[in-house]
Amino acid sequence: MSSPADYDTPAVKTSLPPHKKGKLLQKYRHEWEEAYPCLNSVSEELYKANCKACRRTFSVSHGGLSDIKQHASGEQHSRNARSQKTQSVVSQFFMTETSQAEIDSVTAAEITGIPHSKA
Ligand SMILES: [Zn+2]
Repeated sequence: MSSPADYDTPAVKTSLPPHKKGKLLQKYRHEWEEAYPCLNSVSEELYKANCKACRRTFSVSHGGLSDIKQHASGEQHSRNARSQKTQSVVSQFFMTETSQAEIDSVTAAEITGIPHSKA
């Protein structure tokens, strides 16, 4: 998608002051959790994010969302996020397995003609 904003005249931007020291720190934003569900806020640390997958806390005060992106693209995080996903898939798999096994045993009993003796 190419927007005409990309070709904005630089003259407009020159009115903005150059980078100054002491700019506002970026606080943690809960809306980031929509894109990164593994994130959590850190109660006493407004400028930090906690990654549930990595069990790690890192600062977002300078880059904000780009700090998050940087963390999420990291090798360690990818590995942790993947293992977390695998865990939930495994538990789902086991649930399906159990119900499938139940169905199988019922079907097997019907096929072999073993009478279902109920007490
Ligand atoms: Zn992480």
